[in-house]
Amino acid sequence: MVSMTKFIVVAGGVMSGVGKGVTTASIARILMGYGYKVTAIKIDPYINYDAGTLRPTEHGEVWVTDDGGEIDQDLGTYERFLDVDIPKKNNITTGQVYGTIIEKERKGKYLGQTVQFIPHVPDEIKRRLKEASKNHDIAIIEIGGTIGDYENIPFLFAMKSMEREMGKDNVTYVLITYLPIPSHIEEMKTKPTQQAIRLLGETGIIPDFIICRAKRALDKVRKQKIETYANIPSTHVISEPDIETVYSIPLDLEKEKLGLKILEELKLKPKKALNLDEWKRLVSRIENPKKSVKIAIVGKYVDIGDYNLTDSYVSINQSLLHAGAALNVGVDIHWVDAKSFENSKEKINELKDYDGIVVPGGFGASGVEGKIKAINFSRMRNKPYLGLCYGLQLAIIEYARNACKMETANTTENGKTKFPVIDILPTQKELMEKSDYGGTMRLGAYAAVLKEKSKVWELYKETGRLKEDMEKLEKLKKDKNQAFRLGILGKNKNIVLERHRHRYEVNPEFVSELEKKGLVFSGYHLREDNTKLMEYIELPKHKFFVGTQAHPEFKSRLGNPSPLFYGFVKACGK
Ligand code: GLN
Repeated sequence: MVSMTKFIVVAGGVMSGVGKGVTTASIARILMGYGYKVTAIKIDPYINYDAGTLRPTEHGEVWVTDDGGEIDQDLGTYERFLDVDIPKKNNITTGQVYGTIIEKERKGKYLGQTVQFIPHVPDEIKRRLKEASKNHDIAIIEIGGTIGDYENIPFLFAMKSMEREMGKDNVTYVLITYLPIPSHIEEMKTKPTQQAIRLLGETGIIPDFIICRAKRALDKVRKQKIETYANIPSTHVISEPDIETVYSIPLDLEKEKLGLKILEELKLKPKKALNLDEWKRLVSRIENPKKSVKIAIVGKYVDIGDYNLTDSYVSINQSLLHAGAALNVGVDIHWVDAKSFENSKEKINELKDYDGIVVPGGFGASGVEGKIKAINFSRMRNKPYLGLCYGLQLAIIEYARNACKMETANTTENGKTKFPVIDILPTQKELMEKSDYGGTMRLGAYAAVLKEKSKVWELYKETGRLKEDMEKLEKLKKDKNQAFRLGILGKNKNIVLERHRHRYEVNPEFVSELEKKGLVFSGYHLREDNTKLMEYIELPKHKFFVGTQAHPEFKSRLGNPSPLFYGFVKACGK
């Protein structure tokens, strides 16, 4: 008999941005540690179909899944905590739910019925939840937004209906709230939490657990207040004060035995003893590293009102942190505006104060010349350089211009040029003409064949990632809809998988010229139509000069760092 997946529903009260995602991921991490097969699902109540067209400065960076989904960042948090690949079906939006219903109605699938909010909307939500949680013991569902928002009502309604269908023993509710301490009174206030409990109650849901986020830990008086108000045992009111690193949250929640309490609520017993020792060791390294390196991320920054959102590079931040934890090196990350190098000649020299330079992904011409200057600086001064996606493309442009005498080399993304070293390949142009805008990107995981003995190859081998990815290939081969991601592999044994999100590629016409002048292409993807797409570059004589067309920052986890970030941070520390 296939046993039923049990659900944990996480909703947020009071306000957004209190760390619902990391708490959800932490709970999932703990339950996984008790031997359960756990997955996490994010519900985004907005009407967008996915996060592909959202402004990154407003919503944070777009997360890319193996199967090519462009998703909200929370899915990234889950992967970073759980060290599993989470597919795009684990993100459900209002747009998807209505999209399916309307499509079915047009196809006459409802046979003369009136299609209505109830039951059709909750039914479609439940169908998607069941589909995403298939083959797991426990699915933890994070409902985006805040209790009281109009747009999350259908989802809460669906959860209540799920509870009725499955029985209360199979569904547990967690409310995460925030307790402000207004500076003029310096007292922690429980009122907004009381109101959140009441608002949640209007949907028929009574939380089984309340997690209290605040600057400080909850005291007895306030805990009691919440306990009485919500009518739940005080052991189910959990304090979650601000911490230095989000990775200590599973450890803090475990001190309160939250995992065991949730299992008990779901009528489950631990399948094995929880061992977070390795996790603890990594967290203590993040908190107290032996030494530290200073890294400049040279990117494009946009201010939103009076605030500068660095969240648009969150995965890169995390990847550097994971690499640092593995190496026992602290990473001191600085955001450097690429445009600042364009107006002043001297400014670029400020980069000498950094141990390494990262150029992240990006689109369009803004800041490009500044980034190219920074890349030239790293190359000439033997400073560790890591180029991610646009960071590889711009490194190629820099090399073409300054080492291969193609002074006007550029990407056709920024206009016409005599040396289009980065271009849209003809077969891709066809694709673009045929399909809509979204369909023109290379999205999701693609296989790359690595050049044996190259620096990139060494790093994938050293970190165990090569072995791990070779195993994943087998699974991918069997998946009809995803197998195209492998391309032509032959009998090659040096294959890795990284995620992509870009339109342009290295122009094959210039590859041999660049190679002649010393640039090494250390990996490629061979498409089924025999087009060779360049995936990695490196400079063998440089301390560390590596670029990748992929976004390896989407495959970095605490305890399983991304090979290129690992190599980069290591080189920075030398
Ligand atoms: N703008 C480049 C492209 O579309 C790079 C994209 C990126 O860095 N994600 O190919």
